[in-house]
Amino acid sequence: MTGHPQTLRPFLSRAAQLYPDRELVARTATGTGRYTYAEYAKRVGRLASALRTAGVGRGDHVATMCWNHDRHAEAYYAVPNLGAALHTINPLLPADDVRTIVAEAADRLLLVDASLAGALTEAYRGDPDAFESVERVVVVGGEAPDLPVDAVDIDAFVADHDPDPDPGYPDLAGDDPAGLCYSSGTTGAPKGVRYTQRMLWSHTMAILTPAGLDISHHDTVMPVVPMFHINAWGLPYAATAAGAAQVYPGPSPQPADLVTLIEDEGVTLTAGVPTVWLGVLDYLQDTDADLSTLERIVVGGAAPPERLIRAFDDRGVEVVHGWGMTETAPVGAVSHLKPELRGAGYETRLDKRLKQGLLLPGLEFRVVGDDGDEVPHDGESMGELLVRGPWVTTSYYGRDAADDEAFEGSWLRTGDVVTVDGDGYVELVDRAADVINSGGEWISSQAVENAIMDDERVREAAVVGVPHERWGERPVAYVVADADDRGALIDAATERVRGAYPDWWVPDRVEFVDAVPKTATGKFDKVDLRARFDGSLDG
Ligand code: ADP
Repeated sequence: MTGHPQTLRPFLSRAAQLYPDRELVARTATGTGRYTYAEYAKRVGRLASALRTAGVGRGDHVATMCWNHDRHAEAYYAVPNLGAALHTINPLLPADDVRTIVAEAADRLLLVDASLAGALTEAYRGDPDAFESVERVVVVGGEAPDLPVDAVDIDAFVADHDPDPDPGYPDLAGDDPAGLCYSSGTTGAPKGVRYTQRMLWSHTMAILTPAGLDISHHDTVMPVVPMFHINAWGLPYAATAAGAAQVYPGPSPQPADLVTLIEDEGVTLTAGVPTVWLGVLDYLQDTDADLSTLERIVVGGAAPPERLIRAFDDRGVEVVHGWGMTETAPVGAVSHLKPELRGAGYETRLDKRLKQGLLLPGLEFRVVGDDGDEVPHDGESMGELLVRGPWVTTSYYGRDAADDEAFEGSWLRTGDVVTVDGDGYVELVDRAADVINSGGEWISSQAVENAIMDDERVREAAVVGVPHERWGERPVAYVVADADDRGALIDAATERVRGAYPDWWVPDRVEFVDAVPKTATGKFDKVDLRARFDGSLDG
């Protein structure tokens, strides 16, 4: 006997039944639009009906190149409800990568924001054959000039279809596809992960729990993390499942836009990479804002600097630190305090919150050293983190897992070097590709970066290992800072690194730059930085 399959559709139909009047709000280029869950379900049905008429069905791939807005949220359900996979393309990827992934995914239809049409056009022009599978481009939010294919406006695309919460959706199984997302290629070529209905369903249920992000119908959720970055960390599905109000911040939101939306819409939970919130903090320094509704900010994707957590604590907003990756759909761990730690002093609690956290219920993990043995959970022994669970992929799209070093049976090798402490908190030391090997000892580039960034004058700091004759590799820091006296800034940074880590973790050189190069998901592009380093390190 089995229960009914785990699929995404009931999340939306329940929300429309039980919370028909709760609102979804979207900031667009022309203002802020809003509609209710009842209306949302009808619009999803209408889009699904139009997609079906266009030939989209089970197993197909429908791509999007869109910001966070209502039309994208509609595609989030319309496509999976047909048993097709929603392939969210990061429009900031290099044109070459866009071509490669569209060709590999063989997307049949592509939804693109008018404001992002340039990225699509550029990719098309490089090699129109890569887009051979794309039968139609649907444009959202205005006219798209210069597209080299037949394009139709989304309003025209859905015009002949009735708004209907159930336009005759097919019966789906848990194994039917629901999503497709490529990693941004921080450490190599983008790799595709195809999510089934069951994977996204399980991930949704896990992040709803208090061990996850604790999302409920009390919340107003604003995903700032882009919907093209691993399903906006699953928030659109989870918020709908919970019946939470939703706020979508639209194209290129700036700190002022985010703060205004929090104030106007009473946002209780928001989420994004640390750099977004450092920008918001900068903005708040000169602006009075009422953040009284905001209870928590979920940060992940990169380690948050300590001062970020402290500064929001001072404002009464909890920074909830999570870890995840494209391969884990994405949330895998969240750094909540165990009950016995709640009474501990602030600094002890902060140390725990800075760690990547406790694995979510439903997942299993192992940490394995170079010799293949599990390392002790002593907070010091390092090894690679392996995870498995219902929402962790066991292969890359289009590739044979048996030949892939990332998979060991049902286990995913994350490529993250971690320690685990006696309380079970995982701490990410570094990505294996970024660890600096100096004289046979490891230096965590992330730890040094965060020590340098714990200075309000430092806007960004990226640390990479560069070749060194004697030590193999030594750290070099690239720093963006507002400081007249750079010498004093370097001295202060050196002090902080020395205070927390061995002397030889101090970078051999600090280069001041206007900006640190970033990948398409806004992470430091260390491949570029290592290639950029010229000259040599003496000694
Ligand atoms: P890409 O591999 O292209 O960067 P992902 O977004 O899937 O794409 O990246 C996942 C990786 O991001 C993780 O393996 C880890 O190295 C890093 N990461 C995620 N969350 C955190 C975090 N909270 N702290 C530090 N690093 C993190």
